[in-house]
Amino acid sequence: MADKAILLIMDGLGDLPVLGSQFSAPANAKRATGNRPLTPLQAARKPNMDKLASAGMQGLMSTIKRGIVPGSDTAHLQLLGYGPEKYYPGRGPLEALGAGMKLIEGDVAFRANFATISGDRITDRRAGRLDSQVAKQLEKEANVQMESIQFIFKATSEHRGALVLRGAGLSANVSPTDPHHLGFLETSRPLDPGEGARKTSDAINEFTKTVAARLEASPINAERKKKGMLPANAILVRGGGMYKPVPQFSEMHGISGACVAGGALYKGVSRFVGMDVLDVKGATGTKSTDLRAKGRAALEALKTHDFVFVHVKATDSFSHDGDAKGKADFISKVDKELIPVLAKSGAALIITGDHSTVCARKDHTGYEVPILACEEGGRSDGQMKFDEISAMRGGLGHVRGKDVMPVILNMIGKARMYGS
Ligand SMILES: [Zn+2]
Repeated sequence: MADKAILLIMDGLGDLPVLGSQFSAPANAKRATGNRPLTPLQAARKPNMDKLASAGMQGLMSTIKRGIVPGSDTAHLQLLGYGPEKYYPGRGPLEALGAGMKLIEGDVAFRANFATISGDRITDRRAGRLDSQVAKQLEKEANVQMESIQFIFKATSEHRGALVLRGAGLSANVSPTDPHHLGFLETSRPLDPGEGARKTSDAINEFTKTVAARLEASPINAERKKKGMLPANAILVRGGGMYKPVPQFSEMHGISGACVAGGALYKGVSRFVGMDVLDVKGATGTKSTDLRAKGRAALEALKTHDFVFVHVKATDSFSHDGDAKGKADFISKVDKELIPVLAKSGAALIITGDHSTVCARKDHTGYEVPILACEEGGRSDGQMKFDEISAMRGGLGHVRGKDVMPVILNMIGKARMYGS
């Protein structure tokens, strides 16, 4: 039995068998399955995961409930033991925490992005995919104090950022200014009759106007226009939520936890629940992330923590692009570069996804996700491969997202006895 655990989440891991000529499985996988189409996980070359599968147990997991399509934010909260129906603060606070912003109770946070507007018409939702450095230089134009409300804006990558409203009596129950498509800049409206919602939506509309004027007057935008580039002359907000502290991971589970991730959301979720977030050079949350660096960071974190959550994003990104071959190749890369490092740690290892992002649909779905759990001296269910189909026959059976932390705590001998 191990006394420490690693939870590896490959975002959007689960999938359906992929039809069509786009996909070409390795010859050995074809032999094994005849001419049936394969899922990307089946088609990937992954001797290391399969070795773990033959030593451990797998099952199929519904992260939230059967048939529910999880967002990455709610899925991760659930997997870490924080039921989203009780603890989900909205996307904004998680993004703000992920960007390294400090939040205090009562702050209202949004996802935000630079855009190009002409009057109140949005002509480019990403301001021509603004360069991260230029966004950093424009950041100060969106940090303003208006009456009793402080607006704190932080640019993150390219056109993206997070906006925090700090002040008394705010509410997150307001509509976004980002219409999610080209069209007109929306006016934020209160979504309940309370004073807080009205105050907050008024403040956002005032902020939008003020900041658009400041950005329009910025010499950086004058320079961009001269060069024929789109000016970054507006900030759009969406995904608002109010921050309220939650019980810390160590109180919740009685163990210490660390996070190794590149994507801001996953760092944000981890900070939200009070885990230590490691700064890993080369971990980018993209297809070119440094998997070996993540593995090394996870081993280092295990020296001082009972539990390490490792997140890999690109499996989901390939799925959203509909690129099943790319997804399979990336899983092969994880198998080659990350799994051997994690496997040699001696910790209990749990490998799963947060939801199934189906390449053919280019979106999240409610299909169950394969989950694999193995530990030295643990039970084996006799499955020789790790994939959606083997998982149907696996010893873990059907698992819910909320079962995952209890399963892990039991594996490392930290589950509390029920009764005596
Ligand atoms: Zn996800």
